[in-house]
Formats: sequence, structure tokens, C-alpha cells
Amino acid sequence: MLKTKDILDEKDKRLHQISKEVVFPLSDEDKKIINDAIEYLTNSQIDELAEKYDLRPGMGMAAVQLGVLKRYFVVVHEYEPGKFNNYVLINPKIVSNSLEKIYVDMGEGCLSVNREIEGIVPRYARVTLEAYDINGNKITVRGREELAIAFQHEMDHLDGIIFTDKIDKKNPYKDMDNMRAI
Ligand code: ZN
Repeated sequence: MLKTKDILDEKDKRLHQISKEVVFPLSDEDKKIINDAIEYLTNSQIDELAEKYDLRPGMGMAAVQLGVLKRYFVVVHEYEPGKFNNYVLINPKIVSNSLEKIYVDMGEGCLSVNREIEGIVPRYARVTLEAYDINGNKITVRGREELAIAFQHEMDHLDGIIFTDKIDKKNPYKDMDNMRAI
């Protein structure tokens, strides 16, 4: 079972590198990472399990956060209290996005960032992605609101970008009035 300490910290150089395209079929290591990530992210969003296993709550994890520089990530979205949808996106690309932008009012978070961060990250309110599933079938996935933010946050990890990189240091609440808070 994955532990919080298995997740790389923002200081680790690997988190600032660009991940490589996945070649199918998936390796056993990749399948294990995907299953472990789903388990971690689900348990971490259930208070009693998060406490029991000492997990930091999170809804997304990219392979690079576990030290594997491959272009895939997992998002576990609690779409209704206690109900979760799993998204496993391999070699994903954002193919369209809304004009409208949003940001997380309380500030974005990341399993690799263990400190308080001042500022907001502009994100599209809706995105459509094309990707491959674990069997190598092409899929199209749409996300809105917090799911859209999670997809964009994880996409950034594949390009070596952490959300803190996207906050304007001199003006951390830049353009706030042109975006909607969620
Ligand atoms: Zn992250």
C-alpha cells in the first residue's frame, strides 16, 4: 500500500522534468502504480481511512510523483458524497477548453507540496481531453469545475510544472476579478 512518504516532494528534480510518452502494452510496474494510486486517492478522501493510514487528502496523482517519468495520471473524483469516479489517462492531451476561467478559492493543493501557498492558479472551467485507457484504447474525457482543475493540474505534472510555478510571485492574486472562484 502506498504511503504519503512514497510521494516525491517538490524539491525533487524529477518533478521538474518532462515525462515521456507511454508505449503500450503497459508494464506490470505501471499497472501497479495505477492501482496503488487509485487506492491511495480513494482512501485519502475518506476521513476515517485517511486518518487510519495517515494519508494526505488528494484527488490526483501523476506517475512522476512516484518517480516514474511517464505520461499518465490518475484522478479519483468524489462526484457525490462517498461516491467516486476513477480516471486513468495515458498520453493525455487537452483538445479543447472553455474561455471561462476559474480558480480554487481556498488555493490549489498538491500531494508533493507540503507548505502553505499564497495565491491562485488560473484554470479553464471546462476541458476535453483525449487519452488512452489502460488497454490502449483511445478515449475522450470531459471535465468541469474541480474535475477540470484536477485534469489541468495533472497535465502540468507531465510537463514538469507544479502549480506553484503558475502563481505570479509579485501579484499572487493577479486577474482574480476576471475569473470565477470555486
Ligand atoms: Zn500535484
